Amino acid sequence: MKPRDLFTLERGDILHYEEPGTRFKCERFTGPRGGIKENVTRVKVTSVKTWKRDPGRIEVRWQHGLYTHGCITPEHAQYFHKQEDCPLNDPNDGQGW
Ligand SMILES: [Zn+2]
Repeated sequence: MKPRDLFTLERGDILHYEEPGTRFKCERFTGPRGGIKENVTRVKVTSVKTWKRDPGRIEVRWQHGLYTHGCITPEHAQYFHKQEDCPLNDPNDGQGW
């Protein structure tokens, strides 16, 4: 997402995490038994912090599972997208969802 899109997030939102060159990428693949599987890393927004005196500043904290958590600042926004913006949602890929 774009850095400004961070400001639309709310606690409880689910985001997907992708990072080029790593295994973190939203993709669909055919499993060993022929079933369609998805590789999606979902994180849950746990808090959104903004600063009145510094309107461009934002910190979005997220959690993945029980023990993994982190923080998104505008520099990291490109690695996250909302579920509705997921490339796997493309209706033209033949999966219908
Ligand atoms: Zn995705």
